[in-house]
Amino acid sequence: VREFNRKSAAQAASTSDGRAIEIAANIATAGDAQIAVDNGADAVGLLRTELLFIHRKQAPTVEEHRDSYQAIVGALQGRTAIIRTLDVGADKEVDYLTLPPEPNPALGLRGIRLAQVRPDLLEDQLRGLLAVQPHGAVRILLPMVTDAGELIRLRARIDELQREVGRTEPVEVGVMIEVPSAALLADQLARYADFLSIGTNDLTQYTLAMDRMQAQLADQADGLHPAVLRLIAATAQGAAKYGRWVGVCGALAGDPVAVPLLIGLGVTELSVDPVSVPGIKARVRKLDYQLCRQRAQDALALESAQAVRAVSREIWPLE
Ligand code: PEP
Ligand code: MG
Repeated sequence: VREFNRKSAAQAASTSDGRAIEIAANIATAGDAQIAVDNGADAVGLLRTELLFIHRKQAPTVEEHRDSYQAIVGALQGRTAIIRTLDVGADKEVDYLTLPPEPNPALGLRGIRLAQVRPDLLEDQLRGLLAVQPHGAVRILLPMVTDAGELIRLRARIDELQREVGRTEPVEVGVMIEVPSAALLADQLARYADFLSIGTNDLTQYTLAMDRMQAQLADQADGLHPAVLRLIAATAQGAAKYGRWVGVCGALAGDPVAVPLLIGLGVTELSVDPVSVPGIKARVRKLDYQLCRQRAQDALALESAQAVRAVSREIWPLE
C-alpha cells in the first residue's frame, strides 16, 4: 500500500475533469528538498532563504548563495525551485543588518523594502541565484511588493545583474501577493511579473489587521475569511488579464478545507509542507473543477470564515 501511495504521489495531480494543479513544496534547506522529492512534490513553490542570513556575523557571499541553491537544485533532480529573496526586518536577530528597532516591524523595512537601505544584500543574493545551473531551474520570488512601480524598478535591476553575469535567457520573476495593495493591484503587477504567488499568512494578517503571531487571534485570523477570499479572487482575475499563473504558498494551500475554493478561484499551484504533498494531491484528484468554480463564487458572498468553512465541509467532506 505504501509503495502504491508513493507512486501516485509522484504523479502530477489534476481534478477529475482534467484541470492540472501543480502541488509544490515549501522548503528552506537541501534536506527539505530531498523530503519534498520523496513525497512527490512537483516542484519547490517557495524556498525561504532567511536561514541563510540569520545566526551569523556577516552577510552570505555570492558564492555561498550560489552553492546553497545549487545543492537544492541538485536534490530536486530536474524539478524547478522558486527562490524567495530575503524577507527579514527589525524583528529578526541579524547582527550585520544594524537596523534601528522599529515600533512595528511587520509594517516596516521588511521584504524587498530592506533593499532601500541594504541593496547589497539583495544584489549578492540575486547574483548567486543567477549563477545556478541550469538556468531554467530557478525562478525569483519577491516578498512584500506593494505596487507595480516597485516591481518595475526591481526588474530593471535584475535585468542589469543578468547582463553583468552574462546570462542570456531571462530569469522568471514572480511577486508575492501578501499585502492587500498587491492583491488590489494584481492586474498591474501581472503585467510585469511572470507569475503571482499568494502568501496567505501575511495577506490574512494585513487584511484583517490581526498579528499572525498572536495566539489569542489564531482562530479568527483565518485565510478563508470572505475579505481574504475576495482578495484572492481579485488576484486571480488580475493575473488572468495577462495570462499569468497564480499559486498559493501560505499555509492555506495545505488546508484541505480551503483547497477546493482556491482551485475554484483560479489558483493552479499549491505550495505546501513537503509531508502534506501526497494528501493534497489525493484531495485535488477527487475535485470537479466546474463545481469548485461555482461554489467558490458563492463563497465570496458568505459573511464569515466559519460560514465558508461550514459550506466547504458540506460540499467536499473530509475523508
Ligand atoms: C506568507 O506570508 O503566506 C508566506 C508564505 O510567507 P511567510 O510565511 O514566510 O511570511
Ligand atoms: Mg509572508
